[in-house]
Amino acid sequence: MQKAKLALKANAAHKTVVQLSDRVTVGGHDLLIVGGPCSVESQAQMEIIASRLATAPVQALRGGVFKPRTSPYDFQGLGLEGLQILASVRDRYGLPVITEVMAVSQIEAIAAHADVLQVGSRNMQNFDLLKALGQVNKPILLKRGLAATIEEFVMAAEYILSHGNPNVILCERGIRSFDPYTRNVLDLGAVVALKQITHLPIVVDPSHATGKRELVADLARAAVACGADGIMVECHPEPEKSVSDARQTLSLEDMMSLVHSLEAIAVAVGRSIPSGAGVVPRLSFV
Ligand code: PEP
Ligand code: MN
Repeated sequence: MQKAKLALKANAAHKTVVQLSDRVTVGGHDLLIVGGPCSVESQAQMEIIASRLATAPVQALRGGVFKPRTSPYDFQGLGLEGLQILASVRDRYGLPVITEVMAVSQIEAIAAHADVLQVGSRNMQNFDLLKALGQVNKPILLKRGLAATIEEFVMAAEYILSHGNPNVILCERGIRSFDPYTRNVLDLGAVVALKQITHLPIVVDPSHATGKRELVADLARAAVACGADGIMVECHPEPEKSVSDARQTLSLEDMMSLVHSLEAIAVAVGRSIPSGAGVVPRLSFV
């Protein structure tokens, strides 16, 4: 880790708190809970999700509109239309939104509509993208590469930091291994190590780490117990009908019970879960 300068802790108490919106932060005492679908599918879908999550202790919404799909024949995301949907639910429900940026050419439009720009695993070492995101005035959620070492992960964050953006959130989402039983292997050891060596907040994504919805809640709880600053979980009103990542997606009911079950664990590790950041509008969506 010798070449990292900006990502490493200057002393044991050094930590960066990243502001997602006026009321939502990550990296401080409060845990960040992010929920939402793998892909934004429609305005109605996002309304149902936002209205439900806004009543829970959930602080931010996720949803992909530019999707990095293994097959070019699979749904690639709603693009600009999806960004407009995200911006409208963000305004109506007061929840900051996180969405993935895959290319330098998408940065301007995404930064105009979203609160946090996500770099997906497949782009963790897209250095031109990282450099360009260093010039953006919005937080970046940087996901660990599919087979990236901890050092490579930290150095990818260093690219963004050294190009001028101090607001980087790390995201552990599992790494490739030999066992196809789970989609990836959630590396909670890396979470503990990264908390020790860097001052950056770290969020855990147990959805992509496991690929199976029945494994998500227990690993989310384990992540909070081992010191993660937050979790990001895929959920959907009809999980089996999700256009992408259906098998790992929770129902909204299961998401709500997961979030409530985290409260006692948060207290046990000296953290707290703020009440939801969202507001439910008085007029229903038509
Ligand atoms: C996602 O968060 O929707 C995603 C594609 O994740 P990852 O980059 O971790 O595979
Ligand atoms: Mn997904």
